[in-house]
Amino acid sequence: MFTCKQVSNALSREDYEKLPPTKRFFLKLHVKLCIFCGRFNRQVMDSQDMCRHFKAHEEELFYNRPKLGEDRKSALKEMLSSQSAQSGDANSAEKV
Ligand SMILES: [Zn+2]
Repeated sequence: MFTCKQVSNALSREDYEKLPPTKRFFLKLHVKLCIFCGRFNRQVMDSQDMCRHFKAHEEELFYNRPKLGEDRKSALKEMLSSQSAQSGDANSAEKV
């Protein structure tokens, strides 16, 4: 069984999916049972899962992402430039 420090060090060094199966099993077991580091290290593992998933689907996400129309882009640019013009005014954000 690992200590909390060993688990945290292993998770900070690399993606836990790249670890050897036995080490990964005990690491997951520790994180599931530990009342001290379990909650934090589970979040670290979740973020590693999300990064791995994003990398795997990065290209299809790039092509399927919602796009902003030219009219909306120019409206945003106009709004931003009018806001930066009145930057001295503290209430400028509330007016828009
Ligand atoms: Zn622990």
